[in-house]
Amino acid sequence: MGKGFFQVPPAVNEPIKSYAPGTPEREEVLQTYKSMYESHLEVPLYIGSKEVKSGNTKPINPPHDHQHEVGVYHNAEKKHVELAIEEALKAKQAWADLPWEQRAAVFLKAADLISGPYRQKLNAATMIGQGKNIFQAEIDSACEIADFLRFNVEYMSQIFEEQPESDSEAWNRVEHRPLEGFVYAITPFNFTAIAGNLPTSAALMGNVTVWKPSDSQIFSANVLMEVFQEAGIPDGVVNMIIGDPEMITNTILAHEEFSGIHFTGSTNVFKGIWSKIGQNIHNYKYYPRIVGETGGKDFIVAHKSAHPKVVSTALARGAFEFQGQKCSAASRAYISKSIWPEVKKLLIEDVESFKIGPPDDMKNFINAVIHEGSFDKLAKYIDQAKQSDEAEIIVGGSYDKSKGWFVNPTVIETTNPKYETMETELFGPVLTVYVYDDDKYEETLDLVDGTSIYALTGSIISTDRYAAALATKKLENCAGNFYINDKCTGAVVGRQPFGGARSSGTNDKAGSKLNLLRWTSPRLIKETFVPATDYRYPFMG
Ligand code: NAD
Repeated sequence: MGKGFFQVPPAVNEPIKSYAPGTPEREEVLQTYKSMYESHLEVPLYIGSKEVKSGNTKPINPPHDHQHEVGVYHNAEKKHVELAIEEALKAKQAWADLPWEQRAAVFLKAADLISGPYRQKLNAATMIGQGKNIFQAEIDSACEIADFLRFNVEYMSQIFEEQPESDSEAWNRVEHRPLEGFVYAITPFNFTAIAGNLPTSAALMGNVTVWKPSDSQIFSANVLMEVFQEAGIPDGVVNMIIGDPEMITNTILAHEEFSGIHFTGSTNVFKGIWSKIGQNIHNYKYYPRIVGETGGKDFIVAHKSAHPKVVSTALARGAFEFQGQKCSAASRAYISKSIWPEVKKLLIEDVESFKIGPPDDMKNFINAVIHEGSFDKLAKYIDQAKQSDEAEIIVGGSYDKSKGWFVNPTVIETTNPKYETMETELFGPVLTVYVYDDDKYEETLDLVDGTSIYALTGSIISTDRYAAALATKKLENCAGNFYINDKCTGAVVGRQPFGGARSSGTNDKAGSKLNLLRWTSPRLIKETFVPATDYRYPFMG
C-alpha cells in the first residue's frame, strides 16, 4: 500500500567514458576482457529460482575468432519453456502487489550496478560476444541500458501521476495494473541495452516475463541476469530461456495466459509471430499486446548546399560504426551531383583509414560481423555488385572468414535508385549511394519515400532551410526518427525516443512513456461521496 507520494531520483543520462590511452577505465576493461576471454563460461537457463542445465549445449564463439570458445550455453527443451511460464505465473501476484516504489528501487539499483561495479564486465562481454569496439560497447552496455532503467522509472512515476479531473462529489482515480498473464520478450543480438530493456520495462510495470535472448548475445545476456539477481529482481519475474527460437515461441504463443510480446528483431520474424498470434487468438484469455521494433533501410539525403565533409562524416559513422549492424545504420544515400566528387573523395579516404580487427586492439574502428550467416549474405551482395552493370564498388569489396567474420566496409555506387541494395536490409558494413541531379531534389525525396518498405531512421543534410523543411515534410512517414544535419544513428534514451513505422515496427518508442503504457492495464475507479437517492432529474419537474 502506498504510504506517501514518492518522487523518484531525476533520471540523468549516464556519462560516456572516453577510454583514451592512460585512463583507468581503459585498463580495467582490457583486463576484464582478457580474463573473460581466457575463461570458459557455462550459461544456464534461468527459471524461477533455479539455474537449469539441460545438458544440450552449444559453444559461444567470438565473431572475430570463430574457433575460440569462451563458453557454452544450455539449450531449452519444451518442458523448460513450460516451466518458465509456470514460474512466471507463480511469481505474478506477489510482484504485482509490491508497491511501485519497491519495484522501482530494484531497477534503479540494477542501473547503478551496471554503471558501477558491473560496467566493465558487461562491456567486455559485449565486446567479446557481439564484436563491438569499446566505444560501441560503452554507449550500449553501460550507458543506454542504465538510461533505460533510470528513465523508465521516471516515466512510470509520471504515468502514475497523471490523473483524471475530480470534483467535490466524486473522486476519479486511475490505477495502472500489470497485464494479466505473462509477457514474452524476444531480443536481437545487436544491443545489450535492448536485451536488458525489453523484459525489464514490462517487469517494471508489474508484469512477469519470459525472456528469450538471441543466440548471438548470450555472453552479455548472462551478465545481465547476474545484475538482475544482485539488484533483487525476485525469482520468476524475469526468466531467461535460450534455444530453438521457433520451438520456444510456438510453446509460448500456444499458452492461454500469454498476454503480450515485446519484440525487437527482423521484420519477417515479427510478421511470422504476429500471424501465429492471430491463429491462436481464440485460445487466449486476453487480447495480447503486440509490440515490435523491426528492420530498417535507413537513409541519408545530401542536398547540394551541404558541406561535403559533414556528409562524408555522417556516412562514415552512420553506415559503418558497429559494422553497420544497427537497425538505424545508414545503408542508402542520395547525394547531389555537384557535391558528390568531393564527398566521394572524402568518404573513400575515411573508409580506407579504418582499422579492422579484434575489439581488444583499441585502434580498431571496425570489428567482425556477428556470424557466418551474416557474413555469407553480405559477401553475396558484394559479389553481385561486382557483376552488375548498374553498380560499382568504389571502396572496400573484400571479405575474409578464415579467422573471424570480417567484411571490409564497402561503398557501392549505383545508377539505379531501385537497385537491390538500395531496398533490402543487409545489416552489415555495406552502403549504397545513388547520385541525383541537383535540380531533381524534390523528385529524389519522392524516391526516398517510395523505395523501401521500412520507415525507421533517416536524415537530411542541408544548409538551405527550405530544402531541409521540404525534406522534413515530404519524408514525414518515411522515418520514425528523422535527423537534420546529423547521421541517422545514435538515439539517446530520454532525448530521442526510438522506433519506426511501416515495416519497421509498431513505433511504440522504446525508452519513453509510450512504450511503458503498452505494459499496463489502467483501471478507473470513481468514488461518489453522497450517492443519488432519487432517479428523477430536475427537467422532469
Ligand atoms: P533476428 O530477427 O534474426 O532475431 C531476433 C530475435 O528473434 C532473436 O532472439 C532470435 O532468436 C529470434 N527469432 C529468430 N527466428 C525466430 C522465429 N522463427 N520465431 C521466433 N523468434 C525468432 O534479428 P537479429 O539478427 O538478432 O537482429 C537484427 C534485426 O533486428 C535487424 O533486422 C534490425 O533492423 C532489427 N533491429 C531493430 C531495432 C529497432 O529498434 N527497430 C533494434 C535492433 C535491431
